[in-house]
Parts: sequence; structure tokens; C-alpha cells
Amino acid sequence: MRINADIAKCQGYGNCVALDGDHFDLDDDGMVVVLQDTVTAAQVDATTEAVRSCPVSAIWLVNDDA
Ligand code: SF4
Repeated sequence: MRINADIAKCQGYGNCVALDGDHFDLDDDGMVVVLQDTVTAAQVDATTEAVRSCPVSAIWLVNDDA
């Protein structure tokens, strides 16, 4: 799985950072930064929760294994 982000949509709520700090951080302007876009099987639950928590759907998962 891989993370895609539309950073222009991000409103800096930080939900994703709280739920999955391995993949998401906020920059100095309070906007999301994807630290790494690859999501392992062991990480997918936390990343899915982070994606679901985003109020503006600025981040999502893509299955590139198919
Ligand atoms: S949860 Fe969404 S709006 Fe909030 S920081 Fe993450 S990407 Fe941005």
C-alpha cells in the first residue's frame, strides 16, 4: 500500500500525525508532510485509521500491489 496526499486540501488538524506518526508529520506551516509513502502490512491498520481521521480527505491509501 502507498499513501497519496493532496496537501493543498490539508487544514492542519493533525489527526493523522496523532494516529500514525511513522508516516505523517506537520511542517512549520502546520500542513501535513508524508514522511514515507510506503505502508507495510504491519502498519496498514494505523495508517488506515489516520486516513479515516482526516476531516478533509487530504490523505488516502492506494493499493499498488494489484
Ligand atoms: S488529518 Fe488531514 S487535515 Fe489534518 S493534518 Fe492530516 S492531512 Fe491535514
